[in-house]
Amino acid sequence: MTNGNPPLTLEQLYRQGRKILAQSPIGEDAGFEAFLLFEKTFHLSREELLTRGGEFPAPLLEAEYRSLLEKRLAGQPLQYLLGEWEFFGHPFAVGPGVLIPRPETELLVELALQHLSSIPSPAVLDLCSGSGCIPISISLERPDAFCAGVELSPEAIPYFKKNLALNHCSRVFLVAGDVLHLPSIPELAGPFHAITSNPPYIPQGDLSHLQQEVQQEPSMALDGGADGLLFYRKLPEIAAARLAPGGLLAMEIGEDQGDAVAALVRQAGFDQVTVHPDPAGHDRVVTGVLKK
Ligand code: GLN
Repeated sequence: MTNGNPPLTLEQLYRQGRKILAQSPIGEDAGFEAFLLFEKTFHLSREELLTRGGEFPAPLLEAEYRSLLEKRLAGQPLQYLLGEWEFFGHPFAVGPGVLIPRPETELLVELALQHLSSIPSPAVLDLCSGSGCIPISISLERPDAFCAGVELSPEAIPYFKKNLALNHCSRVFLVAGDVLHLPSIPELAGPFHAITSNPPYIPQGDLSHLQQEVQQEPSMALDGGADGLLFYRKLPEIAAARLAPGGLLAMEIGEDQGDAVAALVRQAGFDQVTVHPDPAGHDRVVTGVLKK
């Protein structure tokens, strides 16, 4: 030990971390978060923490754990510190430069899968893919599908590639490009059976009021222009040009954007336009079916 205090056992060190985090705004998530950071550092399961908690940690690992706690207290997202986060039951590499997959986005994947359930070997396009969590999750459920994902950010694309490898996913075609000016390549021409997107949708003026952790995420993945609707003004038309008749457009939205986005989707020639609430009861996804 370097600070003159008696050395702590693994169990004591874990508890100390939990206490430090509990006194911060992390509050009641402290036990969960401290354990995940502990597990990442020491590679010990909860059971092993019980059986081996009386052992003393290697000083280098103890320093690593303390440094993770400090970064967490300074507002770095837990998911970035862990380097990996689960979405739709699969692991995704995350870190600075890429949006962290959110559990509410699983609804978008579920709705797309439902629509595709009766279509053999469907073609799916995901726009603003970030980590790739949407097309990769769809592809893992539907190995017969062809999926393409488009992402512009040079910081996010390496995570997308890493996640393809991490999930042994060989049927997702990654395109580096701007969804608002899609490259004219055969893989993006369609016709697609479903087009999904979780575009940036936070109104610009709200960005500086977001939670400290969210502000560490790339503004390119969050910033939806002055009113948050920038992408929704363009994506329905882009999708209508590439969907097969009867094809599904499914877009994630901010909870107060349902009416505005539904109107834009209808205007672009979609039927059965529906706003779906997430498990917390907030409007989260708008879907529409391209008229036949
Ligand atoms: N769901 C994210 C948030 O709440 C926003 C993601 C997005 O803009 N697509 O911060």
